[in-house]
Amino acid sequence: MRSHLFQLLLRQYIEHRHPANVRVHVWTNAFLWLGLCTLLSQMPAPVEIPLLGANIGAWWIIGSVAYWLTIDVVTPLLVLAWSVAFASLPMFPWGPQHGWITGVAAPLVIMTVSGLVALFSHIYYHEHAEYLKTENPLADALKTTHAVLWGPFYHWLFALLGRKYRRSFRAELDTAERQHIVRKDGVRWTNWGRTFHCVPRTMCVPLRLEDLCAVVRQASQEGRKLRMVAGGFTWSSMAASDDILVFCERLTSIDIASDRKTVWAECGATNRQLNRALAAKGLQLPWNVVLETVGVAGIVSMGTHGSGKDSGTLSDLVEALDVIDASGNRRVLSEATIGAEAMEAARLGFGVFGVIARVQLRVEPACRVLQIDQKMRVSETIADLPNLVRKHDSVEIFWFPYTKWAWVRTFDRTERPLTLRSHGLGFLARNFVEMAVSGGSLWAVSKWYPAGLPRMVRLFAGTLSFHERVLPMTEAIHYRRWVELVRTGCIEVGFKIDDDDFSNFRRIFHGTRQLVDDWTKRGRYPFDLTINIRFVGPSRALLSPAYGPGLTCYIEALFVRRGPHWKAFTNELINLWLSAEPAALPHWAKEFEHVVGIDALAKERLGARLTRFRAALKSAGVDPSGMFVNDLVRRVFGV
Ligand SMILES: Cc1cc2nc3c(=O)[nH]c(=O)nc-3n(C[C@H](O)[C@H](O)[C@H](O)COP(=O)(O)OP(=O)(O)OC[C@H]3O[C@@H](n4cnc5c(N)ncnc54)[C@H](O)[C@@H]3O)c2cc1C
Repeated sequence: MRSHLFQLLLRQYIEHRHPANVRVHVWTNAFLWLGLCTLLSQMPAPVEIPLLGANIGAWWIIGSVAYWLTIDVVTPLLVLAWSVAFASLPMFPWGPQHGWITGVAAPLVIMTVSGLVALFSHIYYHEHAEYLKTENPLADALKTTHAVLWGPFYHWLFALLGRKYRRSFRAELDTAERQHIVRKDGVRWTNWGRTFHCVPRTMCVPLRLEDLCAVVRQASQEGRKLRMVAGGFTWSSMAASDDILVFCERLTSIDIASDRKTVWAECGATNRQLNRALAAKGLQLPWNVVLETVGVAGIVSMGTHGSGKDSGTLSDLVEALDVIDASGNRRVLSEATIGAEAMEAARLGFGVFGVIARVQLRVEPACRVLQIDQKMRVSETIADLPNLVRKHDSVEIFWFPYTKWAWVRTFDRTERPLTLRSHGLGFLARNFVEMAVSGGSLWAVSKWYPAGLPRMVRLFAGTLSFHERVLPMTEAIHYRRWVELVRTGCIEVGFKIDDDDFSNFRRIFHGTRQLVDDWTKRGRYPFDLTINIRFVGPSRALLSPAYGPGLTCYIEALFVRRGPHWKAFTNELINLWLSAEPAALPHWAKEFEHVVGIDALAKERLGARLTRFRAALKSAGVDPSGMFVNDLVRRVFGV
């Protein structure tokens, strides 16, 4: 019995390592358990149990306690005490004869709500442990059901283990975990956006940097190929591998330099973890992407960006990369070690400049910003755009198709006192409802009644609220939560603004509206969410669309559903955007692989930059045999 429970515990232990996720599970499972036992208690049993009565719920509790005593003593006793305490409450509907409402419906509601909160907690903390899936979905489902039925026995024990209870048992679990996930064969993996999947021959989840080095060293000795996954949010197949796929989500240490100018973050540290660690020391990243759950190695490897005319890409914040080369040895890549030219390539390296163990990023003292959200007419916004961009630190625009107005977000650094310290629980709840309701209904309308999309988009766009507030810059950057909830589609192109009047931007924006109108006139509605427009300054990342002097406009389209016309529509749209200027390029993290002729076009546009990239890769000497190169990198960049 012990080893059976140990295996089940191990699976949940691996799947619940984020302390905040464990906390949520401690409470949700406590209430789910109460709901379940109360429901069962409505059925009478022939024999009475002291304090719990003559009902099936009482017997379920006693049986469960006996079952779990085979592996632990304290947790079953705590569960027993918790159950008896509630069963003894005078108003509590414990035991038969409480009727359908209080005895059945109420416990079912409590169980459902608790279960959903636990489920969404995994989405919020992006803790999915996809690599635990097996070829047998029924067995997987049974294990999950076991964990739902006896939730507090699992999660209360994990919480206790986190507080130094039964150290030897925890060590036993840790050892088993290492054996179980450091290497696993033949697991199918799909990225967050469901845009690609791969079945790597081996999948690894290193728990320490030494494990990561060992994985790379062994792969090198066996002449195998290897790719990494940080958060798995990239839409393009940059992370795909059919040989070895390494997940860096357990490598999350953060070390802030004593001069407070830089931070070393392990590859899997998320934005949320990094922001918290920096905020605790009064620091911040100067700019960032919106999503909080992405990993630091992922965002720098893809040249991601936020918004701000004086910002660059995340790769521009890289001071140094602590990488593992193709022989499994650690090396630091920086301007001092490989030179400024090679560093321009390595800072946006798509994972080919070695496995990133740690990233050193530039940080700055935390500041406040005045953030203003406005609803403006699209025509006015576009006419005033050059002015807006010049005047504000950051300008971001959302245009909702089928409407004549835009949501314009600006923010500027300020010394004014805070009016909002942090977004808080109300904001989280509101964002959740907005994302769930709008995502679900737009998806349904797009699938079953596409002609209703314009009205639906107008309806949801109309529910947005507009504020003026002073808040920490980090909060302003991550102004949207629960983005992970809706697996949107996304295309994006970056191009340089060609003159003071933003003429090329106006042309392609006008073209975009025209394109949407043309498709609408033909009775087709492939576009169901929003266009987002951001501006960033010059970048030093060689293969970034923002590379070189001047202002770069990033224009993206987000989709709730990829319907039957999605490919044709996005091909037209991307080609329109790519016509903005001769060096316009797709955002490498977004969806572009379906665009006809894109590989040749990218190669032609990157031209000499590609030659320099390949030369830098060769001179850095991290991967002479192409161990870290996958299909997409080879196709597009000819590496
Ligand atoms: C909802 C959503 C919102 C987004 N918002 C923005 C935005 O505001 N701005 C923007 O620019 N982008 C945005 N993106 C894109 C996203 O930021 C990028 O795709 C980012 O790279 C994802 O980070 P990740 O941790 O998921 O990386 P992954 O997708 O896991 O990996 C990205 C790349 O990095 C490589 N890699 C990962 N870890 C390592 C390592 N240790 N060593 C070497 N290579 C490694 C992978 O092999 C892969 O090639 C968004 C994406 C989503 C889904």
